[in-house]
Amino acid sequence: MTQTVVMSAPFLQAIASRLPGMRLLTDPGDRESYRHDETAYLHPGLPGAVALPTETAQVSELLRLASEFRVPVVPRGAGSGLSGGATGIEGGLTIAFTSMDKIIEIDTANLVAVVQPGVINATLKAAVAEQGLFYPPDPASYEMCSIGGNLGTNAGGLCCVKYGQTRESVLSLEVVMADGTVIRTGGKNIKDVAGYSLMHLIVGSQGTLAVITEATLRLRPAPSPRSTLLAFFPSLESAGEAVAGIAAAGLSPVTLELMDRFTIGAVDDMNHLGLDRQAAAMLMIESDMPGDAAAAELSRADSVCVAAGATSTIRSETVQEADLLRQARRAAHWAFARIGDVHMEDIVVPRSRVPDMLRAIEAIGIKHGVRMGAFGHAGDGNLHPDLVFERGDPMAHELTERVRVDLYQTAIDLGGSVTGEHGIGTARREWLVRQRGEDAVRVMRAIKAALDPLGILNPGRVLPDA
Ligand SMILES: Cc1cc2nc3c(=O)[nH]c(=O)nc-3n(C[C@H](O)[C@H](O)[C@H](O)COP(=O)(O)OP(=O)(O)OC[C@H]3O[C@@H](n4cnc5c(N)ncnc54)[C@H](O)[C@@H]3O)c2cc1C
Repeated sequence: MTQTVVMSAPFLQAIASRLPGMRLLTDPGDRESYRHDETAYLHPGLPGAVALPTETAQVSELLRLASEFRVPVVPRGAGSGLSGGATGIEGGLTIAFTSMDKIIEIDTANLVAVVQPGVINATLKAAVAEQGLFYPPDPASYEMCSIGGNLGTNAGGLCCVKYGQTRESVLSLEVVMADGTVIRTGGKNIKDVAGYSLMHLIVGSQGTLAVITEATLRLRPAPSPRSTLLAFFPSLESAGEAVAGIAAAGLSPVTLELMDRFTIGAVDDMNHLGLDRQAAAMLMIESDMPGDAAAAELSRADSVCVAAGATSTIRSETVQEADLLRQARRAAHWAFARIGDVHMEDIVVPRSRVPDMLRAIEAIGIKHGVRMGAFGHAGDGNLHPDLVFERGDPMAHELTERVRVDLYQTAIDLGGSVTGEHGIGTARREWLVRQRGEDAVRVMRAIKAALDPLGILNPGRVLPDA
C-alpha cells in the first residue's frame, strides 16, 4: 500500500496565483484518473494535483515552482504506457499534455512537422497524409498514444523494421529542464553535430531528464499502399527461422509481425478473418515498395517462408484487406483482454535468436502453468508475450513475477533486452543493473544528477534506487 501524502497548500496556492488561467485538478475523483497507465499489475500513488498546461511558459513556471517546493513531477501523455512511466506519484504533480495538442506547422519544403506533445499519433499521421506525406512511427496503440509519450518512451511499433523507432523520426525538441529553463536541442536541419546530442539523450528517458514541450519531426513522402503476405507455420520454431531468414536475405519489409496459435485464435474470434487456427504461428509481412517491386519483395519473402516450412501462404487481394489484417494484428492485446486479465511483456533479442526466444516463451508458460500468447514485431526481434489470467485470479501477480524473471533472464542470456519499446519505467527497474551493469548505470545516474540535481523529474522511474 502506498502511504497517503497530501500536497502542500502553499505549493497549490503558488500555482494558482502565478498561473491563474491554467486548469489544475485537485478533486480526488479527477486525480484518480491519473493514477494508472495501462500497466495492469502496478499499484501507483495518487497525484496530489494534475496540471493541464496549454503552453511552454506554463510548463516552465510549473517546474520552477516544483523545484522551489521540491515536489516530484510526472509528465504524462495519453497514459497508454506499459511500464508505469506516467503513473501517479503519491502527493506529486502530474503534468498532463492533453491540452497541448496543436500541430503547429507542416513544412512541406523541409519535410518536417512541428507539434506540441499532446498530439495523438494517428491525428498527426492523418494530417500529414493529406499533404501526401508520411510520419512512420506506428505503435499498435497509435489511435490513443501521444507524440510526447512516444518521445518519452522512444516508441516502436509495426514498421520499425524498415523505418526505425521514434528517435529516427525526430530532428529537434524544445524541452523544459528541471529548474524551468527552456532549451532547444536543434532545428529543422537534417545534419547537425554541434555539441552533444541532447535530443538523443532525452528521447526514451521517460520524463526523468527533461519535459518535452515541442517536437520537430521528420516526414517522408507517402509510400505506396501496402501489399500483405500471410504465412502459416506448423511450429513456432519454423516461423522464427523464417524471420531470421528474411533478415539474412537482406529483405526490408515495412512490417514483419508474428502471432502464435493462441493469438491467432483470439484475433480470429474477435475479427472473423478466417485465419488458419491450426497453425502454430503466422507471420504478417507487408511491403510498401512502389509498383512491381512490392510483389517481388513479397515473392522473395514467400520463398524464405516456404523454405523454413510454411504450410500455406496467402496474399491480400486489396488495400482494404491489407488494412483490415493490420488493424487485426494491432488489436491482438484487446483480443486477449476479451478472454481474461492480461499482462503484456516486451522482450527483444537479436533477430537470429527469435527461434530460441519463441521456444523459451512456450517452455516458460508450461513451467509456470500460465496461458501465454506470443505476438509482436518479430522483424525487430521484439516479442510481446501476453500473460492471460482468469479474471480476478489471486495468483496473477505472483505468477507474473515468476514468469517475468524467466523471460527477462532468457532475453539477457540470448544477448537481448528486458524491454524493446515499452521502457524500464517502474516495472523493470530492478533489471537495469543486471542488463547494463553497475558501471553503465553509474554513468546514467551521473547524467540524471547533472540535469535534475534535486531529483524532482519522475523520480523512481528508470533508475533503480541507489
Ligand atoms: C494495446 C497497446 C498496444 C501498444 N503497442 C505499442 C507498440 O506497438 N509500440 C510501442 O512502443 N508501445 C506500444 N504501447 C505502449 C504505449 O502506447 C507507448 O509506450 C506510447 O509511446 C505511450 O504514449 P502515451 O502518450 O500514452 O504516454 P504515457 O503513457 O502517458 O507516457 C509514457 C512515458 O513518456 C513520458 N512522457 C509523456 N509525455 C512526456 C513529455 N511531454 N515529456 C517528457 N516525457 C513524457 C511519461 O512520463 C512516461 O514515462 C502499446 C500500449 C497498448 C495499451
